Amino acid sequence: MHDYDPGWDYRPIRRPASAELDEAEQAVRLHLIPAMDLPDMTLFFVRRGQCRNGAIAKYIAGTASHPVIALDVAAHRAAARSGRDLQVMLRTSLAHELAHAYLESCGIDPDLHCEDEVEEFAADFAHHGRIHLRGLFASHDHLLD
Ligand SMILES: [Zn+2]
Repeated sequence: MHDYDPGWDYRPIRRPASAELDEAEQAVRLHLIPAMDLPDMTLFFVRRGQCRNGAIAKYIAGTASHPVIALDVAAHRAAARSGRDLQVMLRTSLAHELAHAYLESCGIDPDLHCEDEVEEFAADFAHHGRIHLRGLFASHDHLLD
């Protein structure tokens, strides 16, 4: 088990009150985390724009033994104001970041993860509830044999 502390890299804020966040978190805890055979995850929250590289969520590489994810809820809310579904967006972000944790737990270095495959996996879960783990290995299929 790692001892990662978000305070090393970020200035975490309190969890925002959000029914959409509660539901999205519950959906991944109930369905996705068990399917990936990951232990539980820890979310922490940052002010708008405080994730790295302009991201709205970020898996902390190296924490796959208990995934830690930074989430910028304010950026999600801002995007939702232009007509996108906040719950679906939050589900997509959590599934995307957990997919990175999952691939890392399978021994694939985060630098080698295919963002398109990860995003497609996340959208499939967020929109349809499908968990197509094999799709995450399309560009790593030499590892499946
Ligand atoms: Zn990603």
